[in-house]
Amino acid sequence: METYDVVVVGARCGGAPLATLLARQGLSVLLLDRGERGTDKLSTLYIHQQGVAFLRDWRVLEQVRATGAPPITGLTYRVGDVELRAPGPFVGGGDAAYAPRRSDLDEVLCRAAEAAGVAVVHGASVTGLQEENGRPAGVRYRRAGRWQQARAGLVVGADGLRSTVAKLVSSSSYAVHSKLSCCLYGYWAGLDAGFEQYQSDGLWVGVIPTSGAHVVACYFRQSEFARVRLDVESAYDRCVRTAAPGVAGQLADATRIGRLIGMGDQQNYFRTAAGPGWALVGDAGHHKDSLTARGITDAFVQADLLARAVAGAGSMEPSRLDAALAGYAAERDRRMMPFYRSTLAVARLDVEAERLKELRHVAASPELSALYGAAVAGAMTPEEYRLHSAALTP
Ligand SMILES: Cc1cc2nc3c(=O)[nH]c(=O)nc-3n(C[C@H](O)[C@H](O)[C@H](O)COP(=O)(O)OP(=O)(O)OC[C@H]3O[C@@H](n4cnc5c(N)ncnc54)[C@H](O)[C@@H]3O)c2cc1C
Repeated sequence: METYDVVVVGARCGGAPLATLLARQGLSVLLLDRGERGTDKLSTLYIHQQGVAFLRDWRVLEQVRATGAPPITGLTYRVGDVELRAPGPFVGGGDAAYAPRRSDLDEVLCRAAEAAGVAVVHGASVTGLQEENGRPAGVRYRRAGRWQQARAGLVVGADGLRSTVAKLVSSSSYAVHSKLSCCLYGYWAGLDAGFEQYQSDGLWVGVIPTSGAHVVACYFRQSEFARVRLDVESAYDRCVRTAAPGVAGQLADATRIGRLIGMGDQQNYFRTAAGPGWALVGDAGHHKDSLTARGITDAFVQADLLARAVAGAGSMEPSRLDAALAGYAAERDRRMMPFYRSTLAVARLDVEAERLKELRHVAASPELSALYGAAVAGAMTPEEYRLHSAALTP
C-alpha cells in the first residue's frame, strides 16, 4: 500500500491547486478524481480578479491565458433605469478577470500539480476511509475495476457539492439556507459583447466572454424551477427578451453551440471545514447560489488558506496538524460568510426600490462605480464596500 502525507479527493479548482501548494512545500500528495481528465463541468466559467490573482501567484496564469479566454476588464450592469459601468482593473496587481472553459482550467491546474510532484490519478472513485486512533489514516478507492488503498496523515475532501468525504467524516451542516435560484445557460458564437449583467424582477441574465464564444446564462427564482424545466427553450428565450432585450436582438443573429444546460440544485450551506486528520475545501465544505459566480474564486481562497495552515503546523504530527486545521476551519468561515450573505441577498432576484436608488447613485459617480466593481471583483468584502462608499458619499 502506498503512503503519502496528504490524499486530496477531487482534482478540480479546489483540490488541484491545494495539492500543488502542498507538494511545493515538500509534502508527498496523492490527488484522486473519479472523473476523466480534461472533461467539462457545470459552470458559467467566470473567475473574479481575486481568483485570477491566485492563478498569477501560483504561476499558472499564462497557461490559462493561452487557452484563448479573453481578458475581461470591466462590467456593465443594467437594472431598471440604471446602467452601471464599472471599469477594471479592480484588484491590486490583477489586470483582468477571465472565464476559461472548465475543461481547460482544470487541466492547467492538474498539470501544475504534476509538475510540482503530485501523483494525479483520474478514474479513481473514493468510497471509504481507513481509520486509525479515531482519525482518518487514508482512503479506499476503486479504479479500473480494482480496489486500492492509500495511507495519509491528512485526507482532504475537494469532491464537490455531493462530497463523499464530507459524509464519511460526518461533517455537519450549518447556516443552511433554502435554494433561491435556478439557472439555464448556453454557449453562443457571433456575439459582440463584454461582461454584462441584466436584472428585472425575478430574472437575471449574465453574458460572459470565454474562448471562441460567449456564455449567456439566465437565472430564475427557484419557485420557477418546475415550470422552467418543462420547456427550457421558451423559459430561456422569455428571460433574455424580458431582462436583456438588447442581448435578445444579438442572439437572433448569433449561433448557439450545443444545447441549453440547466441546474436547479443551488444549495446554500456551510459544512464543518475540518476535524482531526481531515479537511474540506471548495464546494465540499461550502456552497452558495452560483448567481454571483464565486465558487471557483472561493475554492482558490480555501486552497490557499488550507495550504498556509498546513505549512504553519510545521509538521504532520497529529496534535500540531489538528490545531492548524481548526485554525483553517475558523478562518474559512470568517472569509466566506460575508460573500455568502451578499450572495443570498442578490440571489433572491428582487428589484427593490431602495436598491435601485442606491445603484442610481453609484452609477452617477465614476468613483463609486469603480468601488462597486472592486467589491464585485472580490477586492473588498461587502462590509468594506459599504464603509468606503459611505466615505465617498457627501
Ligand atoms: C450553473 C452553475 C454555474 C456556475 N458558474 C460559476 C462561475 O461562473 N464562476 C464560479 O466561480 N463558479 C461557478 N459555479 C460554481 C463552481 O463551478 C464550483 O463552485 C466549483 O467548481 C467548485 O470546485 P470544487 O473543486 O470544489 O468542486 P468540483 O468542481 O465540483 O470538483 C469536484 C471533483 O471531485 C470529484 N469527485 C467527487 N466525488 C468523488 C469521489 N468519491 N472520489 C473521487 N473523486 C470525486 C468529481 O469528479 C469532481 O471532478 C457554477 C456552478 C453552477 C452549478
